[in-house]
Amino acid sequence: MTDKSKDFLRQIIDQDLEKGTYGNRVVTRFPPEPNGYLHIGHAKSVFINFGIAADYPGGVCHLRMDDSDPTKENYEYVEAIKRDIKWLGFDRGDKLFFASDYFEKLYEYAEFLVKKGKAYVCSLPEDEIREHRGTVTQPGRPCPYRDRSVEENLELFSGMRAGEFKDGEYVLRAKIDLANPNMKMRDPVLYRIRHTEHYRQGNKWCIYPMYDFTHCLSDYIEGITHSICTLEFENNRELYDWILEECEVRKPRPCQYEFARLNLNYTVMSKRLLLELVEKKYVNGWDDPRMPTISGLRQRGVTPEAVKNFCESVGIAKANSVVDYAQFEHYIRDDLNTKAPRVLCVLRPLKVVIENFPEGKTQMLDAPYYPHDVPLTGSRDLPFSREIYIERDDFTQNPPKGFFRLKPGGEVRLRHAYIIKCEKVITDENGGIIELRCTYDPATKSGQDTSGKKVKGTIHWVSACHAGNIEVRLYDRLLKNETLENLENDVNENSLKILTDCRAEPSVLKSPPGSRFQFERTGYFYLCPQEYERGKPVFNRIVTLRDSWSKILKKQGG
Ligand code: ATP
Ligand code: MG
Repeated sequence: MTDKSKDFLRQIIDQDLEKGTYGNRVVTRFPPEPNGYLHIGHAKSVFINFGIAADYPGGVCHLRMDDSDPTKENYEYVEAIKRDIKWLGFDRGDKLFFASDYFEKLYEYAEFLVKKGKAYVCSLPEDEIREHRGTVTQPGRPCPYRDRSVEENLELFSGMRAGEFKDGEYVLRAKIDLANPNMKMRDPVLYRIRHTEHYRQGNKWCIYPMYDFTHCLSDYIEGITHSICTLEFENNRELYDWILEECEVRKPRPCQYEFARLNLNYTVMSKRLLLELVEKKYVNGWDDPRMPTISGLRQRGVTPEAVKNFCESVGIAKANSVVDYAQFEHYIRDDLNTKAPRVLCVLRPLKVVIENFPEGKTQMLDAPYYPHDVPLTGSRDLPFSREIYIERDDFTQNPPKGFFRLKPGGEVRLRHAYIIKCEKVITDENGGIIELRCTYDPATKSGQDTSGKKVKGTIHWVSACHAGNIEVRLYDRLLKNETLENLENDVNENSLKILTDCRAEPSVLKSPPGSRFQFERTGYFYLCPQEYERGKPVFNRIVTLRDSWSKILKKQGG
Protein backbone atom coordinates (compact mmCIF):
# COMPACT_ATOMS: atom_id res chain seq x y z
CA MET A 1 0.00 0.00 0.00
CA THR A 2 1.35 3.39 -0.94
CA ASP A 3 1.20 5.96 1.81
CA LYS A 4 -0.01 9.00 -0.10
CA SER A 5 0.84 11.31 2.79
CA LYS A 6 4.52 10.68 2.08
CA ASP A 7 6.56 12.46 -0.60
CA PHE A 8 7.12 10.63 -3.87
CA LEU A 9 10.65 9.57 -2.98
CA ARG A 10 9.59 7.87 0.23
CA GLN A 11 6.73 6.23 -1.65
CA ILE A 12 9.25 4.74 -4.09
CA ILE A 13 11.41 3.52 -1.22
CA ASP A 14 8.40 2.00 0.52
CA GLN A 15 7.57 0.11 -2.68
CA ASP A 16 11.15 -1.13 -3.03
CA LEU A 17 11.10 -2.33 0.57
CA GLU A 18 7.82 -4.09 -0.05
CA LYS A 19 9.11 -5.77 -3.20
CA GLY A 20 12.45 -6.48 -1.55
CA THR A 21 14.34 -4.84 -4.43
CA TYR A 22 17.34 -4.21 -2.16
CA GLY A 23 16.37 -6.51 0.69
CA ASN A 24 15.81 -4.16 3.60
CA ARG A 25 18.59 -1.78 2.60
CA VAL A 26 18.06 1.96 2.14
CA VAL A 27 21.31 3.70 1.22
CA THR A 28 21.30 7.28 -0.09
CA ARG A 29 24.14 9.70 -0.67
CA PHE A 30 24.75 13.41 -0.75
CA PRO A 31 27.41 14.07 -3.41
CA PRO A 32 28.72 17.66 -3.39
CA GLU A 33 31.64 18.65 -5.53
CA PRO A 34 34.22 20.33 -3.25
CA ASN A 35 34.49 23.36 -5.52
CA GLY A 36 32.66 25.77 -3.24
CA TYR A 37 30.69 26.06 -0.01
CA LEU A 38 27.26 24.50 0.44
CA HIS A 39 24.27 26.79 0.01
CA ILE A 40 20.68 26.57 1.13
CA GLY A 41 19.77 24.62 -2.01
CA HIS A 42 22.24 21.97 -0.97
CA ALA A 43 20.66 22.02 2.48
CA LYS A 44 17.44 20.87 0.91
CA SER A 45 19.24 17.93 -0.68
CA VAL A 46 21.00 17.21 2.64
CA PHE A 47 17.68 17.08 4.48
CA ILE A 48 16.20 14.81 1.82
CA ASN A 49 19.08 12.35 1.65
CA PHE A 50 20.10 12.27 5.30
CA GLY A 51 16.46 12.64 6.31
CA ILE A 52 15.42 9.56 4.35
CA ALA A 53 18.27 7.54 5.84
CA ALA A 54 17.16 8.60 9.31
CA ASP A 55 13.55 7.69 8.64
CA TYR A 56 14.16 4.04 7.73
CA PRO A 57 15.50 1.43 10.15
CA GLY A 58 19.10 0.76 9.24
CA GLY A 59 19.01 3.56 6.64
CA VAL A 60 22.38 5.07 5.77
CA CYS A 61 23.41 8.23 3.93
CA HIS A 62 26.91 8.62 2.55
CA LEU A 63 28.60 11.96 2.25
CA ARG A 64 30.57 11.66 -0.97
CA MET A 65 32.91 14.27 -2.34
CA ASP A 66 32.27 14.19 -6.07
CA ASP A 67 35.82 15.20 -6.81
CA SER A 68 36.73 14.15 -10.33
CA ASP A 69 37.53 17.60 -11.76
CA PRO A 70 40.96 18.67 -10.47
CA THR A 71 40.72 22.26 -11.67
CA LYS A 72 38.49 23.75 -8.97
CA GLU A 73 38.50 21.41 -6.01
CA ASN A 74 40.38 21.75 -2.74
CA TYR A 75 40.54 20.80 0.94
CA GLU A 76 39.18 24.08 2.23
CA TYR A 77 35.90 23.18 0.54
CA VAL A 78 35.96 19.61 1.84
CA GLU A 79 36.35 20.87 5.41
CA ALA A 80 33.65 23.51 4.97
CA ILE A 81 31.22 20.90 3.61
CA LYS A 82 31.86 18.56 6.55
CA ARG A 83 31.40 21.39 9.05
CA ASP A 84 28.17 22.57 7.45
CA ILE A 85 26.58 19.12 7.34
CA LYS A 86 27.39 18.60 10.98
CA TRP A 87 25.83 21.96 11.80
CA LEU A 88 22.67 20.96 9.93
CA GLY A 89 22.43 18.11 12.41
CA PHE A 90 23.86 15.11 10.64
CA ASP A 91 26.65 13.11 12.10
CA ARG A 92 28.31 11.18 9.31
CA GLY A 93 29.94 8.59 11.51
CA ASP A 94 32.55 7.05 9.22
CA LYS A 95 30.43 7.42 6.09
CA LEU A 96 32.68 9.85 4.29
CA PHE A 97 33.69 8.90 0.77
CA PHE A 98 35.62 10.39 -2.13
CA ALA A 99 34.93 9.63 -5.78
CA SER A 100 38.65 10.18 -6.39
CA ASP A 101 39.32 7.04 -4.33
CA TYR A 102 37.67 5.08 -7.14
CA PHE A 103 39.84 6.37 -10.01
CA GLU A 104 41.67 3.04 -10.40
CA LYS A 105 38.41 1.06 -10.39
CA LEU A 106 36.80 3.49 -12.81
CA TYR A 107 39.74 3.12 -15.16
CA GLU A 108 39.24 -0.64 -15.12
CA TYR A 109 35.56 -0.22 -15.97
CA ALA A 110 36.49 2.08 -18.84
CA GLU A 111 38.96 -0.46 -20.15
CA PHE A 112 36.24 -3.09 -19.90
CA LEU A 113 33.98 -0.96 -22.11
CA VAL A 114 36.78 -0.46 -24.63
CA LYS A 115 37.36 -4.22 -24.79
CA LYS A 116 33.64 -4.77 -25.36
CA GLY A 117 33.70 -2.30 -28.23
CA LYS A 118 31.47 0.05 -26.20
CA ALA A 119 33.97 2.90 -25.91
CA TYR A 120 36.51 4.44 -28.25
CA VAL A 121 39.23 7.03 -28.27
CA CYS A 122 38.27 10.06 -30.32
CA SER A 123 40.75 12.54 -31.76
CA LEU A 124 38.31 15.35 -32.51
CA PRO A 125 38.76 18.59 -30.61
CA GLU A 126 35.94 19.57 -28.23
CA ASP A 127 34.16 21.96 -30.61
CA GLU A 128 34.12 19.42 -33.41
CA ILE A 129 32.73 16.76 -31.12
CA ARG A 130 29.93 19.15 -30.32
CA GLU A 131 29.37 19.92 -33.98
CA HIS A 132 29.34 16.22 -34.93
CA ARG A 133 26.79 15.55 -32.22
CA GLY A 134 24.00 17.27 -34.18
CA THR A 135 21.05 19.07 -32.63
CA VAL A 136 17.76 18.12 -31.03
CA THR A 137 16.19 18.11 -34.49
CA GLN A 138 19.16 16.68 -36.39
CA PRO A 139 20.95 13.40 -35.73
CA GLY A 140 24.69 13.46 -35.15
CA ARG A 141 27.40 12.14 -37.48
CA PRO A 142 29.99 9.57 -36.55
CA CYS A 143 33.55 10.82 -36.35
CA PRO A 144 36.25 9.14 -38.44
CA TYR A 145 37.64 7.51 -35.28
CA ARG A 146 34.49 5.73 -34.21
CA ASP A 147 35.57 2.49 -35.83
CA ARG A 148 39.06 2.26 -34.40
CA SER A 149 39.95 -1.32 -33.49
CA VAL A 150 39.77 -2.44 -29.88
CA GLU A 151 43.56 -2.88 -29.89
CA GLU A 152 44.19 0.64 -31.12
CA ASN A 153 41.69 2.04 -28.59
CA LEU A 154 43.31 0.15 -25.72
CA GLU A 155 46.73 1.39 -26.70
CA LEU A 156 45.62 4.99 -27.06
CA PHE A 157 43.68 4.91 -23.78
CA SER A 158 46.65 3.56 -21.87
CA GLY A 159 48.79 6.18 -23.60
CA MET A 160 46.35 8.81 -22.39
CA ARG A 161 46.78 7.54 -18.85
CA ALA A 162 50.55 7.36 -19.21
CA GLY A 163 50.72 11.04 -20.05
CA GLU A 164 51.82 10.63 -23.64
CA PHE A 165 49.38 13.25 -24.95
CA LYS A 166 48.52 16.84 -24.34
CA ASP A 167 45.27 18.18 -22.86
CA GLY A 168 42.49 17.91 -25.41
CA GLU A 169 44.39 15.70 -27.82
CA TYR A 170 42.15 12.69 -27.19
CA VAL A 171 39.04 11.79 -25.24
CA LEU A 172 37.43 8.48 -24.46
CA ARG A 173 33.82 8.32 -25.62
CA ALA A 174 31.06 5.82 -25.08
CA LYS A 175 29.88 4.19 -28.31
CA ILE A 176 26.11 4.42 -28.07
CA ASP A 177 23.92 6.04 -30.69
CA LEU A 178 24.48 9.29 -32.55
CA ALA A 179 20.84 9.49 -33.60
CA ASN A 180 19.42 9.01 -30.12
CA PRO A 181 16.77 11.64 -29.36
CA ASN A 182 18.46 12.05 -25.98
CA MET A 183 21.56 14.15 -26.70
CA LYS A 184 23.29 12.70 -23.63
CA MET A 185 23.32 9.34 -25.41
CA ARG A 186 25.14 10.59 -28.50
CA ASP A 187 28.52 9.06 -27.70
CA PRO A 188 29.21 11.10 -24.54
CA VAL A 189 32.75 11.79 -23.40
CA LEU A 190 33.79 9.51 -20.51
CA TYR A 191 37.39 10.62 -19.95
CA ARG A 192 39.46 13.64 -20.83
CA ILE A 193 43.10 14.56 -20.46
CA ARG A 194 43.94 17.17 -17.81
CA HIS A 195 47.53 17.66 -16.82
CA THR A 196 46.48 19.24 -13.55
CA GLU A 197 47.38 18.25 -10.02
CA HIS A 198 44.46 16.78 -8.06
CA TYR A 199 44.15 17.98 -4.46
CA ARG A 200 44.10 14.39 -3.15
CA GLN A 201 45.67 12.33 -5.92
CA GLY A 202 48.49 14.72 -6.69
CA ASN A 203 49.99 13.98 -10.10
CA LYS A 204 49.02 10.33 -10.14
CA TRP A 205 46.49 10.96 -12.89
CA CYS A 206 46.37 13.05 -15.99
CA ILE A 207 43.07 11.66 -17.25
CA TYR A 208 39.92 12.35 -15.30
CA PRO A 209 36.50 10.67 -15.59
CA MET A 210 33.46 12.80 -16.42
CA TYR A 211 30.50 13.24 -14.07
CA ASP A 212 28.20 10.77 -15.83
CA PHE A 213 30.76 7.99 -15.78
CA THR A 214 31.91 8.68 -12.23
CA HIS A 215 28.57 9.12 -10.59
CA CYS A 216 26.69 5.93 -11.39
CA LEU A 217 29.73 3.74 -10.80
CA SER A 218 30.52 5.49 -7.49
CA ASP A 219 26.93 4.84 -6.46
CA TYR A 220 27.33 1.20 -7.42
CA ILE A 221 30.68 0.79 -5.64
CA GLU A 222 29.21 2.21 -2.43
CA GLY A 223 26.08 0.09 -2.60
CA ILE A 224 23.75 3.05 -2.95
CA THR A 225 20.14 2.01 -3.49
CA HIS A 226 18.40 5.31 -4.27
CA SER A 227 20.44 7.98 -6.01
CA ILE A 228 18.49 11.19 -5.59
CA CYS A 229 19.40 14.27 -7.59
CA THR A 230 17.84 17.39 -9.05
CA LEU A 231 15.73 17.62 -12.20
CA GLU A 232 18.44 18.91 -14.50
CA PHE A 233 19.84 15.37 -14.44
CA GLU A 234 16.68 13.80 -15.81
CA ASN A 235 18.26 13.24 -19.25
CA ASN A 236 21.38 11.79 -17.65
CA ARG A 237 19.37 8.92 -16.17
CA GLU A 238 19.37 6.95 -19.41
CA LEU A 239 23.16 7.19 -19.53
CA TYR A 240 23.41 6.30 -15.84
CA ASP A 241 21.56 3.06 -16.56
CA TRP A 242 23.44 2.39 -19.81
CA ILE A 243 26.85 2.60 -18.12
CA LEU A 244 25.86 0.26 -15.29
CA GLU A 245 24.33 -2.16 -17.78
CA GLU A 246 27.32 -2.18 -20.14
CA CYS A 247 29.80 -2.42 -17.26
CA GLU A 248 27.78 -5.49 -16.31
CA VAL A 249 27.76 -4.65 -12.63
CA ARG A 250 25.88 -6.94 -10.28
CA LYS A 251 22.18 -6.46 -9.64
CA PRO A 252 20.32 -4.95 -7.88
CA ARG A 253 21.73 -1.71 -9.20
CA PRO A 254 21.24 1.79 -7.83
CA CYS A 255 18.50 3.85 -9.49
CA GLN A 256 18.39 7.58 -10.06
CA TYR A 257 15.39 9.73 -9.07
CA GLU A 258 14.99 13.44 -9.62
CA PHE A 259 13.27 16.16 -7.60
CA ALA A 260 12.89 19.91 -8.14
CA ARG A 261 15.82 21.97 -6.96
CA LEU A 262 15.27 24.81 -4.53
CA ASN A 263 15.31 28.23 -6.15
CA LEU A 264 15.02 31.39 -4.06
CA ASN A 265 14.56 34.91 -5.35
CA TYR A 266 16.73 37.85 -4.22
CA THR A 267 19.76 35.61 -3.96
CA VAL A 268 21.98 33.40 -6.09
CA MET A 269 22.55 29.70 -5.76
CA SER A 270 25.11 28.77 -8.30
CA LYS A 271 28.54 28.11 -6.92
CA ARG A 272 30.10 29.83 -9.90
CA LEU A 273 28.27 33.08 -9.10
CA LEU A 274 28.87 32.74 -5.38
CA LEU A 275 32.57 32.38 -6.09
CA GLU A 276 32.44 35.48 -8.26
CA LEU A 277 30.82 37.44 -5.42
CA VAL A 278 33.67 36.36 -3.16
CA GLU A 279 36.44 36.97 -5.66
CA LYS A 280 35.18 40.37 -6.73
CA LYS A 281 34.76 41.28 -3.06
CA TYR A 282 31.07 42.07 -3.15
CA VAL A 283 31.03 40.12 0.11
CA ASN A 284 33.61 39.26 2.74
CA GLY A 285 34.13 35.61 1.91
CA TRP A 286 31.97 32.53 1.52
CA ASP A 287 30.69 32.86 5.11
CA ASP A 288 29.63 36.49 4.81
CA PRO A 289 26.22 36.74 6.55
CA ARG A 290 24.65 37.98 3.32
CA MET A 291 25.58 34.82 1.46
CA PRO A 292 22.97 32.06 1.04
CA THR A 293 25.69 29.60 2.04
CA ILE A 294 25.19 27.44 5.11
CA SER A 295 28.30 29.07 6.62
CA GLY A 296 26.89 32.51 5.87
CA LEU A 297 23.56 31.69 7.46
CA ARG A 298 25.32 30.29 10.54
CA GLN A 299 27.46 33.40 10.78
CA ARG A 300 24.38 35.55 10.48
CA GLY A 301 22.71 33.74 13.37
CA VAL A 302 20.08 31.70 11.56
CA THR A 303 19.40 28.42 13.39
CA PRO A 304 19.66 25.01 11.71
CA GLU A 305 16.06 24.36 12.82
CA ALA A 306 14.87 27.35 10.79
CA VAL A 307 16.66 26.05 7.70
CA LYS A 308 15.12 22.62 8.23
CA ASN A 309 11.60 23.93 8.78
CA PHE A 310 11.91 26.10 5.71
CA CYS A 311 13.14 23.22 3.52
CA GLU A 312 10.30 21.06 4.80
CA SER A 313 7.77 23.78 4.06
CA VAL A 314 8.92 23.86 0.44
CA GLY A 315 8.30 20.13 0.12
CA ILE A 316 9.64 17.68 -2.44
CA ALA A 317 8.23 18.39 -5.88
CA LYS A 318 8.73 17.15 -9.41
CA ALA A 319 8.41 20.55 -11.08
CA ASN A 320 10.74 23.52 -10.67
CA SER A 321 9.54 26.74 -9.09
CA VAL A 322 10.95 29.81 -7.38
CA VAL A 323 10.34 30.25 -3.67
CA ASP A 324 9.90 33.75 -2.27
CA TYR A 325 12.69 34.84 0.05
CA ALA A 326 9.98 36.12 2.41
CA GLN A 327 9.01 32.51 3.04
CA PHE A 328 12.53 31.75 4.27
CA GLU A 329 12.48 34.82 6.50
CA HIS A 330 9.15 33.71 7.89
CA TYR A 331 10.68 30.43 9.11
CA ILE A 332 13.67 32.24 10.59
CA ARG A 333 11.34 34.47 12.64
CA ASP A 334 9.02 31.64 13.47
CA ASP A 335 11.86 29.72 15.09
CA LEU A 336 13.40 32.67 16.95
CA ASN A 337 10.05 33.93 18.16
CA THR A 338 9.82 31.22 20.81
CA LYS A 339 13.54 31.06 21.63
CA ALA A 340 15.03 34.52 21.70
CA PRO A 341 14.64 36.62 24.85
CA ARG A 342 13.32 40.13 24.23
CA VAL A 343 15.60 42.89 25.37
CA LEU A 344 16.12 46.59 24.85
CA CYS A 345 18.75 48.09 22.61
CA VAL A 346 18.85 51.53 21.05
CA LEU A 347 20.42 51.61 17.61
CA ARG A 348 20.61 55.40 17.05
CA PRO A 349 20.66 56.97 20.51
CA LEU A 350 19.04 60.26 21.53
CA LYS A 351 19.68 61.40 25.12
CA VAL A 352 16.66 62.04 27.36
CA VAL A 353 17.00 63.63 30.80
CA ILE A 354 14.12 62.89 33.17
CA GLU A 355 14.18 66.03 35.24
CA ASN A 356 11.96 64.87 38.11
CA PHE A 357 13.92 61.64 38.67
CA PRO A 358 16.62 62.01 41.36
CA GLU A 359 20.22 62.31 40.20
CA GLY A 360 22.43 59.32 41.08
CA LYS A 361 19.46 57.03 41.79
CA THR A 362 18.93 53.67 40.05
CA GLN A 363 15.61 51.89 40.14
CA MET A 364 15.63 48.21 39.22
CA LEU A 365 12.63 47.10 37.19
CA ASP A 366 11.68 43.45 36.92
CA ALA A 367 11.31 42.92 33.18
CA PRO A 368 10.14 39.58 31.74
CA TYR A 369 12.15 38.22 28.81
CA TYR A 370 9.19 36.62 27.04
CA PRO A 371 5.60 37.54 26.30
CA HIS A 372 2.82 35.38 27.76
CA ASP A 373 2.21 33.31 24.62
CA VAL A 374 5.75 31.90 24.61
CA PRO A 375 6.38 28.79 26.72
CA LEU A 376 9.70 30.07 28.10
CA THR A 377 9.76 32.25 31.20
CA GLY A 378 12.35 34.35 33.02
CA SER A 379 13.10 37.96 33.68
CA ARG A 380 15.98 40.29 34.40
CA ASP A 381 16.70 43.45 36.38
CA LEU A 382 16.41 46.41 34.09
CA PRO A 383 17.97 49.60 35.50
CA PHE A 384 16.09 52.88 35.17
CA SER A 385 17.72 56.22 35.92
CA ARG A 386 17.59 59.97 35.29
CA GLU A 387 19.37 59.84 31.95
CA ILE A 388 18.27 57.43 29.30
CA TYR A 389 18.61 56.92 25.54
CA ILE A 390 15.73 56.47 23.17
CA GLU A 391 15.74 55.84 19.43
CA ARG A 392 16.22 59.05 17.41
CA ASP A 393 13.38 57.98 15.14
CA ASP A 394 11.00 57.75 18.08
CA PHE A 395 10.97 61.52 18.49
CA THR A 396 9.91 64.14 16.00
CA GLN A 397 9.16 67.84 16.15
CA ASN A 398 6.86 67.58 13.16
CA PRO A 399 4.70 64.54 13.85
CA PRO A 400 2.69 63.27 10.90
CA LYS A 401 -0.88 62.16 11.53
CA GLY A 402 -0.95 58.87 13.39
CA PHE A 403 2.50 59.33 14.98
CA PHE A 404 2.11 57.84 18.46
CA ARG A 405 5.65 58.17 19.72
CA LEU A 406 7.31 61.15 21.39
CA LYS A 407 6.74 64.74 20.30
CA PRO A 408 7.09 68.14 22.01
CA GLY A 409 4.53 68.24 24.84
CA GLY A 410 3.53 64.65 24.07
CA GLU A 411 3.54 61.53 26.18
CA VAL A 412 4.77 58.01 25.50
CA ARG A 413 5.26 54.86 27.53
CA LEU A 414 8.77 53.53 28.10
CA ARG A 415 8.68 49.74 27.79
CA HIS A 416 8.64 48.02 31.23
CA ALA A 417 8.83 51.46 32.91
CA TYR A 418 6.86 54.71 33.05
CA ILE A 419 5.04 57.22 30.93
CA ILE A 420 7.21 60.23 30.17
CA LYS A 421 6.27 63.65 28.83
CA CYS A 422 8.49 65.76 26.59
CA GLU A 423 8.89 69.18 28.22
CA LYS A 424 11.72 70.71 26.22
CA VAL A 425 13.86 70.09 23.15
CA ILE A 426 17.50 71.13 23.32
CA THR A 427 19.05 71.93 19.96
CA ASP A 428 22.41 73.09 18.69
CA GLU A 429 22.97 76.26 16.65
CA ASN A 430 21.87 74.45 13.46
CA GLY A 431 18.65 73.18 14.95
CA GLY A 432 20.01 69.65 15.38
CA ILE A 433 18.45 67.91 18.34
CA ILE A 434 20.97 67.22 21.11
CA GLU A 435 18.73 66.02 23.91
CA LEU A 436 15.23 66.04 25.32
CA ARG A 437 14.10 67.16 28.74
CA CYS A 438 11.22 65.09 30.04
CA THR A 439 9.32 64.32 33.22
CA TYR A 440 8.03 60.93 34.30
CA ASP A 441 4.82 60.08 36.13
CA PRO A 442 5.60 57.76 39.11
CA ALA A 443 1.98 56.54 39.14
CA THR A 444 2.39 54.92 35.68
CA LYS A 445 4.80 52.09 36.45
CA SER A 446 4.21 49.20 34.04
CA GLY A 447 1.99 46.55 35.57
CA GLN A 448 1.10 48.82 38.51
CA ASP A 449 -0.31 51.83 36.71
CA THR A 450 -2.82 53.67 38.91
CA SER A 451 -2.93 56.85 36.87
CA GLY A 452 -5.72 55.96 34.50
CA LYS A 453 -3.67 57.61 31.74
CA LYS A 454 -3.92 56.27 28.21
CA VAL A 455 -1.05 56.64 25.76
CA LYS A 456 -0.93 55.01 22.36
CA GLY A 457 2.80 54.53 21.91
CA THR A 458 5.37 52.38 23.71
CA ILE A 459 9.04 52.82 22.87
CA HIS A 460 12.26 51.09 23.89
CA TRP A 461 15.05 52.79 25.83
CA VAL A 462 18.15 52.07 27.90
CA SER A 463 19.59 53.71 31.01
CA ALA A 464 22.51 55.85 29.81
CA CYS A 465 24.98 55.08 32.58
CA HIS A 466 24.18 51.37 32.69
CA ALA A 467 24.03 50.61 28.96
CA GLY A 468 26.95 49.21 27.02
CA ASN A 469 28.25 50.34 23.67
CA ILE A 470 27.85 47.74 20.96
CA GLU A 471 28.21 47.52 17.20
CA VAL A 472 25.26 46.40 15.15
CA ARG A 473 25.38 45.15 11.58
CA LEU A 474 22.15 45.47 9.67
CA TYR A 475 22.05 42.90 6.92
CA ASP A 476 19.57 42.91 4.11
CA ARG A 477 18.98 40.81 1.05
CA LEU A 478 21.96 40.18 -1.20
CA LEU A 479 20.15 41.23 -4.38
CA LYS A 480 17.88 44.18 -4.88
CA ASN A 481 16.24 42.42 -7.81
CA GLU A 482 14.48 39.09 -7.78
CA THR A 483 16.92 37.44 -10.11
CA LEU A 484 20.50 38.07 -10.99
CA GLU A 485 21.31 39.27 -14.45
CA ASN A 486 24.52 41.07 -13.75
CA LEU A 487 26.34 41.55 -10.49
CA GLU A 488 26.97 45.25 -10.91
CA ASN A 489 23.30 46.13 -11.32
CA ASP A 490 21.63 43.58 -9.14
CA VAL A 491 23.70 43.34 -5.97
CA ASN A 492 22.03 45.33 -3.20
CA GLU A 493 24.57 47.98 -2.22
CA ASN A 494 22.60 48.54 1.00
CA SER A 495 22.83 44.92 2.05
CA LEU A 496 25.09 45.90 4.96
CA LYS A 497 24.86 48.94 7.23
CA ILE A 498 27.18 49.15 10.20
CA LEU A 499 26.09 51.14 13.27
CA THR A 500 28.95 51.59 15.73
CA ASP A 501 27.25 53.62 18.46
CA CYS A 502 24.39 51.45 19.66
CA ARG A 503 23.49 51.03 23.33
CA ALA A 504 22.28 47.79 24.87
CA GLU A 505 20.85 47.07 28.31
CA PRO A 506 23.27 45.34 30.75
CA SER A 507 21.78 41.82 30.46
CA VAL A 508 22.74 41.75 26.77
CA LEU A 509 26.37 42.43 27.55
CA LYS A 510 26.56 39.61 30.09
CA SER A 511 25.44 37.03 27.52
CA PRO A 512 27.86 34.54 26.00
CA PRO A 513 28.88 34.72 22.32
CA GLY A 514 26.42 32.93 20.10
CA SER A 515 23.40 34.31 22.03
CA ARG A 516 20.37 35.37 20.05
CA PHE A 517 17.99 38.13 21.05
CA GLN A 518 15.00 39.98 19.91
CA PHE A 519 15.87 43.65 20.29
CA GLU A 520 12.37 44.91 20.83
CA ARG A 521 10.94 46.75 17.86
CA THR A 522 14.12 46.38 15.76
CA GLY A 523 14.69 42.74 14.93
CA TYR A 524 16.42 39.50 15.83
CA PHE A 525 20.12 39.73 16.55
CA TYR A 526 23.05 37.38 17.04
CA LEU A 527 26.11 38.01 19.18
CA CYS A 528 28.68 37.01 16.60
CA PRO A 529 31.27 34.61 18.14
CA GLN A 530 33.91 35.33 15.50
CA GLU A 531 33.89 39.05 16.20
CA TYR A 532 33.65 38.39 19.94
CA GLU A 533 37.06 36.77 19.87
CA ARG A 534 38.42 39.98 18.44
CA GLY A 535 37.23 41.66 21.63
CA LYS A 536 34.23 43.63 20.45
CA PRO A 537 30.55 42.88 20.94
CA VAL A 538 29.15 42.83 17.41
CA PHE A 539 25.53 41.92 16.81
CA ASN A 540 24.37 40.73 13.41
CA ARG A 541 20.79 41.36 12.48
CA ILE A 542 19.45 37.94 11.61
CA VAL A 543 16.12 39.17 10.31
CA THR A 544 13.80 42.12 10.75
CA LEU A 545 10.58 41.72 12.76
CA ARG A 546 8.31 42.34 9.82
CA ASP A 547 8.86 42.20 6.12
CA SER A 548 10.14 45.69 5.43
CA TRP A 549 11.12 44.75 1.92
CA SER A 550 7.77 44.97 0.22
CA LYS A 551 7.19 48.36 1.85
CA ILE A 552 10.50 49.67 0.52
CA LEU A 553 9.63 48.50 -2.94
CA LYS A 554 6.26 50.23 -2.73
CA LYS A 555 7.92 53.45 -1.67
CA GLN A 556 10.22 53.25 -4.66
CA GLY A 557 7.15 52.82 -6.81
CA GLY A 558 8.18 49.27 -7.67
P1 ATP B 1 25.66 24.67 -8.16
O1 ATP B 1 24.61 24.64 -9.22
O2 ATP B 1 25.36 25.59 -7.03
O3 ATP B 1 27.04 24.86 -8.69
P2 ATP B 1 25.91 21.86 -8.08
O4 ATP B 1 24.69 21.11 -8.37
O5 ATP B 1 26.93 21.92 -9.14
O6 ATP B 1 25.57 23.25 -7.48
P3 ATP B 1 26.97 19.88 -6.39
O7 ATP B 1 28.07 20.02 -5.43
O8 ATP B 1 27.16 19.02 -7.57
O9 ATP B 1 26.61 21.33 -6.80
O10 ATP B 1 25.62 19.47 -5.65
C1 ATP B 1 25.54 18.42 -4.74
C2 ATP B 1 24.12 17.95 -4.64
O11 ATP B 1 23.27 19.01 -4.22
C3 ATP B 1 23.60 17.45 -5.96
O12 ATP B 1 22.95 16.21 -5.75
C4 ATP B 1 22.62 18.50 -6.39
O13 ATP B 1 21.58 17.93 -7.12
C5 ATP B 1 22.16 19.08 -5.06
N1 ATP B 1 21.76 20.48 -5.24
C6 ATP B 1 22.51 21.48 -5.76
N2 ATP B 1 21.80 22.62 -5.82
C7 ATP B 1 20.57 22.34 -5.32
C8 ATP B 1 19.38 23.11 -5.12
N3 ATP B 1 19.32 24.41 -5.45
N4 ATP B 1 18.31 22.49 -4.59
C9 ATP B 1 18.37 21.20 -4.25
N5 ATP B 1 19.44 20.42 -4.41
C10 ATP B 1 20.55 20.97 -4.94
MG1 MG C 1 26.92 19.43 -9.79
